[in-house]
Amino acid sequence: MARRPLVAGNWKMHGLKASAAELEKIIAAARGFTAVDLLVCPPATLVAQFADIARGSPVGIGGQDCHAQASGAYTGDISAEMLRDAGAVAVIVGHSERRHYHGETDAMVREKVLAARRANLLAIVCVGETRIERESGGADRVVEAQLDGSLPDGSPDFVLAYEPVWAIGTGVTPTIDDVTAMHRLVRQHLARRFGDAADRVRILYGGSVKPGNAKDLLTVDNVDGALVGGSSLKSEEFLAIASVYR
Ligand code: PEP
Repeated sequence: MARRPLVAGNWKMHGLKASAAELEKIIAAARGFTAVDLLVCPPATLVAQFADIARGSPVGIGGQDCHAQASGAYTGDISAEMLRDAGAVAVIVGHSERRHYHGETDAMVREKVLAARRANLLAIVCVGETRIERESGGADRVVEAQLDGSLPDGSPDFVLAYEPVWAIGTGVTPTIDDVTAMHRLVRQHLARRFGDAADRVRILYGGSVKPGNAKDLLTVDNVDGALVGGSSLKSEEFLAIASVYR
């Protein structure tokens, strides 16, 4: 099945109002990218401003996390409904930095996927093993357990992002054989759980995707796009990665 690819930029805790200049460059180029969905996920403080700028363009704006509840006494948190209200169309959930620095468990991630569904946001659900887990031969088991625990039942209306933790922000990437094997494993796992509908799920690769390695990584079977951190902060690099699908 032909799945429309998605290249999503995760700006993490980078960006001020003036960074809209980078978004504007992406928007200016975006009409030339007809075969790929483009998404920019800035910090929460910029979501409304970016969504206003991107309105009517092919570039979507997303959040980087959301709370499971729609509202409540949760100081500092932001709900999926609030992101939607600010103009977001998607939200990253279960990023390894949330799992590690904020103690997010698979069960919490699952609740966030449900929150995104409730608010009509596309959830981009992140999974991936640590270096120790890979070196000890446990990568497959860890990723399958994360899939089991993080994905809710029902229609698989989310995007999956396989992001080996040891490849995030390190400049190191898995071998093409390892990416091929893991994306096949994820696809098979989804098929066992969701049947034919699993075929629709886009599986992104994330972890040190750069213009120089994008073609090799993004043309692997069952890789339906990229979740890009560092290289998404510069519009030229982000667009060069998306150019793989031109
Ligand atoms: C990420 O944080 O999702 C990511 C993939 O980061 P980087 O591209 O910088 O490795």
